[in-house]
Formats: sequence, C-alpha cells, structure tokens
Amino acid sequence: MRLRSLTTALPALVLTAALTTACGSSEKTVDREARQAAGKGSLIGITMPTRSSERWISDGNNVKAGLEKLGYKVDLQYAEDSIPTQASQIENQITKGARALVVASIDGTALTSQLQQAADKKIPVIAYDRLIRETPNVDYYATFDNFKVGVQQATSLLIGLKVKNPDGSEGSAKGPFNIELFAGSPDDNNATFFYNGAMSVLKPYIDRGTLKVPSGQTDFKTMAILRWDAATAQKRMEDLLTRYYSSGTKVQGVLSPYDGLSIGILSALKSNGYGTAGQAYPVVTGQDAEVASVKSILAGEQYSTIFKDTRKLAAETVKMVDTVLKGGKPTVNNTKDYDNGVKVVPSQLLEPVIVEKSSVQRVLVDSGYYKQSQLS
Ligand code: BGC
Repeated sequence: MRLRSLTTALPALVLTAALTTACGSSEKTVDREARQAAGKGSLIGITMPTRSSERWISDGNNVKAGLEKLGYKVDLQYAEDSIPTQASQIENQITKGARALVVASIDGTALTSQLQQAADKKIPVIAYDRLIRETPNVDYYATFDNFKVGVQQATSLLIGLKVKNPDGSEGSAKGPFNIELFAGSPDDNNATFFYNGAMSVLKPYIDRGTLKVPSGQTDFKTMAILRWDAATAQKRMEDLLTRYYSSGTKVQGVLSPYDGLSIGILSALKSNGYGTAGQAYPVVTGQDAEVASVKSILAGEQYSTIFKDTRKLAAETVKMVDTVLKGGKPTVNNTKDYDNGVKVVPSQLLEPVIVEKSSVQRVLVDSGYYKQSQLS
C-alpha cells in the first residue's frame, strides 16, 4: 500500500531510480513492483479530433474502457477539429498529472510545444491512428496499414468498374472510364499514405487510358479536402460536374477516401441526376464503415468502404500504454515507414478490410461490430 501511494505522487522513473539505488541486489523485483503499482489509478489523457465522425467516438470509448478495466483513470477529450482546443486539452492533461498521453491529432504538426512539455515530465506519448509529426517526443504509433488502405480503396474502385475481378485478376471491362479523385486533409499524415497507396494502383490504368480523369486533377494538393469536411467535398464534386461533365459526359467512378466525404459526393451526384433508373451512381469508395455509409452500400448507392476495426486498434493502444508505464517495450511490427520528419516512430499496424454489399454481413455483422438492427 505504501508503495502504491508513493507511486501516485512520484513519476515512475524517479521512483524506480530511488528504489534501485536503495535496494541493490533485489532491484529487479522492486523495479517491476514499482512499475506495476505505478499503473494503478494513474491518469491517462486521451485526445480525439472530433465527435462529428462515429469512428472517433468508438475509438475514444474503446480506449477509455480498456484502460479503466486495467485500473487507470482516464480523461477523454474531443476538440471538434479545433487545433488550439486540442493543444490546450493536452496542456490541461499534463497539468492534471497525466502519466501517459494518447493523441489522435487534428493537425499532425501542431503539437510540438505541448509534447515538449510532456517530454520534460517524462510522459510517454502514443500517436493514435494519425502520426504526430515534426517532434522527437512521440514514443509509439498505433494505426492501420495506411498505404494498404489506399491500395484497397483503389482496388475496390477497379472491382466496381469490373476492370479487376474480386480475386485480383484482370476483369473483362476495358474502359475507358471517367473517374474523379478525392484525398483527405492535407494536415493529416494518413491522407498522403491513402493517396500514395491509391495512386500506386490507379496510375498504370490512367497511363494506359483505361481510366480517364476529365478534370485532369490528379495531384494531392488539388484534390485534398481540408479537415475531411463533407460539405467541401460536396462542393468540389458539384464544381467538377459543372465544369467537366456538362456536355453529357458521365462520371463512372469516384475515389473517396472517407465515408463522410462519400456522403457529400453522393449528394452532389444526386442533385445532378445520378442515382436514377436511367443514370446509376458511379462507383464511389469510402473508409471507416460508418453506419450511414454501410446503409448506403446496402441500398446500392455507395459501392464500398474500408473497415478498420477500431476495437482492435483500441486494444493495441491500451496494451501499449500499459506496457510502457510498466517499463516494458510494446510490440511493434513496423520500424521503417512512419518517419515523422524527426525520427521513425515505431509502429504497430493493423489490417484494413474492403467491404462491399456482399461482405457487409460477414465482416461487419458476424464479427459483432454492428448489430443487424443498426443497419436496417
Ligand atoms: C483516419 C480515417 C478517417 C479520417 C477522417 C484518418 O486519419 O485514418 O479512418 O476516415 O481520418 O476522420
């Protein structure tokens, strides 16, 4: 008990050093006990970008519940996509004595001074889903294979157009097909990964003329949608339709990197006469398997999404926090791809999965991610 109350008052490393010096030969046992005790009741700060997308709500709740189950106290904050709000939430968590921080950033480059404060207090930082950039003060990164997400989005676009078969072989359709491309928020490191992954698949088909981009807009900057905002995507789709499709040309595919954007894109298409008996929607992709988009897929509107099981990401993150606070080294499976501009951050990457109409039941319902009733 004495050890426990001491540890809540002192940073783990200081305590460990003191015990190590005092105890000599039994230092290993004492180290371990001290670190284990350090976990119990410690405050962990979690900051999430926004409640406007379901996934972050589940992420926040799942990480919180997992940590609480291990006896941690949790401060969970959402910043509604305001960068200064997120920065001050992190500062508050440091002031309140957080022993570790889990951060899903809004702008991956905007937290340098807060994370310096964390480092000064020896508070470990885990980047959650989105890499935190331009700082040495991020210890680990838990995410999905973001390049692969982009590959899968592009692959499902090709499958929807029947240019590829679901087994990956070349399909019967030869095109040319008109497509337009959207990317995520330029300040989110993931957006570039999704774009690069998608273009690695699409570019050869664009080069050989199977796919055409009537707007000519294929560079990341032109197609990026700040803060992943659905209204901005809707507006861009409307502009594209007005400028490049007014003379009867039809768009047959749209690469969308996130379900929220897909909804905006589909509504621009709808107000331009798509989604009718005579004019089907183009193949529209997505990401996150959000309920509204899964329903849209079941209704034959959106074509596909990418499922990233946030239960698993939360569980990995909880394990990371607990391991770090107990003085251990978390499991990582990638130590080369996530260079944040200052260092390569050791990362644990999970597998994303393509979902279209025929796999909704198996991937999303049978796995218990959604109840059937949520989707009808
Ligand atoms: C996440 C995606 C999400 C997007 C918009 C990205 O950082 O990886 O899952 O769709 O942010 O919230």
